Amino acid sequence: MISDTIPHFLCELILTEDCNLRCKYCYENANRCSNSYMSFDIAKKSADFVLDYAFNHGIGFVVWTFFGGEPLLNLDVMVKFLHYAVDKANQYGIKSGFSLITNGTIYNKQYEEFILDWYKATKKVNIQISTDGIPEVQDKNRASINGQPTSGTVLNNILKLKAFLEQNHIDYKSSFHTHSIITKDAISKFFLNYKYFRQLGINHVEFMLSYNEAWEESDIPEYIEQLSLIADYVYGECIEACSLIPYENARLIIGLKPPAPIIENKRTIRRLEECAIVPNGDIYSFENMYFHNRNFKLGNIFDGIIESNNSIKTFLDACQSSNDTTCFQCGRNMECDKYKNLIRFKYNEAKKAFLIETKKRFDKLSGKLNYNKCNELKVFNAIN
Ligand code: SF4
Repeated sequence: MISDTIPHFLCELILTEDCNLRCKYCYENANRCSNSYMSFDIAKKSADFVLDYAFNHGIGFVVWTFFGGEPLLNLDVMVKFLHYAVDKANQYGIKSGFSLITNGTIYNKQYEEFILDWYKATKKVNIQISTDGIPEVQDKNRASINGQPTSGTVLNNILKLKAFLEQNHIDYKSSFHTHSIITKDAISKFFLNYKYFRQLGINHVEFMLSYNEAWEESDIPEYIEQLSLIADYVYGECIEACSLIPYENARLIIGLKPPAPIIENKRTIRRLEECAIVPNGDIYSFENMYFHNRNFKLGNIFDGIIESNNSIKTFLDACQSSNDTTCFQCGRNMECDKYKNLIRFKYNEAKKAFLIETKKRFDKLSGKLNYNKCNELKVFNAIN
């Protein structure tokens, strides 16, 4: 968690556009999975660019996200980058943080060594494994480049990672989490997917609705039904653990809390301090701009930000004047930066109503848990 009180710089490093999977909703869009890789020279120059900027602007914390494609396909560069960026940041007195977003299909000795180095350098590991859940869903949505199932590999790798972290006394519960996409044809499996990850001992389980689907109002009851099943399950977890922690975790991770207020044109406030650097060293405001509309480049690591650059403004003007529900930026039919999509709004409204009811239910449970001082048997009696 990054404190809002410390000025920080968030930089996504797109280490490669290459990927060994072909997910059906891949965000790389038409540019998906090209074989461009970031060289170490570019990675090093990116570290120089960002850290010099941070130092000159009094920014004390730089957080790097290793992103792709599948960034572990460029592990050699990632390893060298970690050492280089940490050393340089230390010289400047700047704190470093890292996170990795991977599809979970790659696991080897070099990766383990990288994790140990990372932990040694920052005392914190943050890995997001993008995976969709039960084999039926994972294999349909996230097949390999040859169309082969991937669920077995991802499951094995999750278990190996968990065991490795435990062996090395690194808290696995806070070191990795799963992030899943809910597609229209698998929405009825949302609860099963949630349960699948929880039963693997994963603490932090995130889900989001796919942006690439034509969601309709008629899908909302199924969505709410699945959330209800999850709430029932979490309720059972709370009773078993004699604690509200499972609910608190679920609130944070699957959104069992009222949605954050919508900030119109949220991305207008993005500054250079939140950017993505792509394999050739170009800088974008965020990764989607690179993958979907390259007209909005901010600059590059060699020449810096283009002085006359008006890309954010041009983007917003274009977005403002767009009247349909297709996002001007990315062409997806679900999201526009103005959040004007009505269906999305209706989903949020339905979810909010559900969450208010759920909260009341857990508040009631909370009283019983406290009253019984976490004695499992007494709680059971109190509830029944
Ligand atoms: S793992 Fe990521 S980059 Fe690879 S195909 Fe899937 S969504 Fe695209």
